[in-house]
Amino acid sequence: MRPAHALIDLSALRHNYQLAKSLSGCRAFAVIKANAYGHGAVRCAETLQGSADAFAVACIEEALELRAAGIRQPILLLEGWFEADELPLLAEHDLWAVLHHEEQLLQLQDANLSRPLHIWLKLDSGMHRVGFSPAEYASVWQRLAALPQVASLSKITHFSRADEPETGRTEQQLATFAAATAGLEGPASLCNSPGILAWPQAHHDWLRPGIMLYGATPFEFEQDNASKLRPVMQLISRIIAVRELPAGEPIGYGSRFITPRPTRVGVVAMGYADGYPRHAKDGTPVLVDGQRTGLIGRVSMDMLTVDLTDLPGSGLGSAVTLWGNGLNASEVASWADSIPYQLFCNLNRVPRHYR
Ligand code: PLP
Repeated sequence: MRPAHALIDLSALRHNYQLAKSLSGCRAFAVIKANAYGHGAVRCAETLQGSADAFAVACIEEALELRAAGIRQPILLLEGWFEADELPLLAEHDLWAVLHHEEQLLQLQDANLSRPLHIWLKLDSGMHRVGFSPAEYASVWQRLAALPQVASLSKITHFSRADEPETGRTEQQLATFAAATAGLEGPASLCNSPGILAWPQAHHDWLRPGIMLYGATPFEFEQDNASKLRPVMQLISRIIAVRELPAGEPIGYGSRFITPRPTRVGVVAMGYADGYPRHAKDGTPVLVDGQRTGLIGRVSMDMLTVDLTDLPGSGLGSAVTLWGNGLNASEVASWADSIPYQLFCNLNRVPRHYR
C-alpha cells in the first residue's frame, strides 16, 4: 500500500471543541462543512455527537449526509437554501437555516411546510459577502417574526478580520451589530475561531468554531488560547527513493532548485494530487524521522523531494510528516502562500486513519 495517509486524532477534536466551550460557556456549532475541513464529516460528527450542541455545514447536501449517518443534533446551513422546493427538506430533516437574501424570505412566506423552521437572520456587519444591511435588518426581522413558517428567529453575522486584532475592523463590526440588532430579542452568533479565541466580548450565545476544532491556529502570531489547541491531523508518508547528487544539479520540474553542495535527496510519496500545496517554496519544513528538514524542488503530482544531507541516519523507508505532530499546518501553509484551511480542505486521495 502507498504509505501516504492522514492520521486523525479524534480525542484532539473533542479537546478542541471543549476548549471553545470552556472559553465562553456558550453553546457552539461544530463547523464541519467541506467534509469537516478534510477530516471526514461523518466521523467528526459521530465523535462530537455526545458533546456538541449542534453542527454547522455549508449546504443541504452536507447536512443530509449527516442525517443519513444518524446524526440527530440540530444542523445549521450556513448558506441557507437556494430554491423554494428545498424548503420542505429543511422542515423534514429539522435543518436550521441562515437567511441572508430577500428572495429566500419571499420563498419562505409562500411555503407550505410540515413544521415551521428555525431561522438565523444574517446581518452584513461589514464582511460584505452575504446578509442584510444594517438599515434593513430590523424591518426584515419584523416581517419574519410575523410568519407562521418561522419557529424561532436568531441573529447571525460574520467577522472579516477577527484574526487581525489591531485593524479595528472587529470593533466596527461589533458596533454595527449592536446598533442594527438593538431591541430584537433572540440568540446571537458572531464568532468564528479567531472571534472565540481573541474576542470574548463578542461571544454572545452561540459560537461557530471551525479551524480551531482541527487544532490549527487562525493567527499569524502567538496567541495564548490558540496555544492550547491540539492538532487533529497528521499528514504522513515515507521516503521511497534516495538520490546522491553533486553540487550544481537541478532537481525536479523546471529545475527550480539547484543543489548548492553535494546533496542527498529523499523522494517522498506525496504530491499535489494528495493535496500537498504545489506552491510550497524551497525550504518548506518537513519532518523526517521527527527531525526538521526542508522541501527542495517543485512538488510533483505524486512525489516531492526533501533534503536529507544533514540527516545521515535517515533514508529509504524513513517516516515523513508533512504537517501535524510538531509541525504546525499554519507554518507549512505560510510557505505556500496559503492558509491551513485550504491545506486541510484540499486533502485528496490519501486515506484517513482514525484513532
Ligand atoms: N461561520 C461561518 C459563516 C463561516 O463561513 C465559517 C468558515 O468559513 C465559520 C463560521 C468557521 O470559521 P473558522 O474556521 O475560522 O472558525
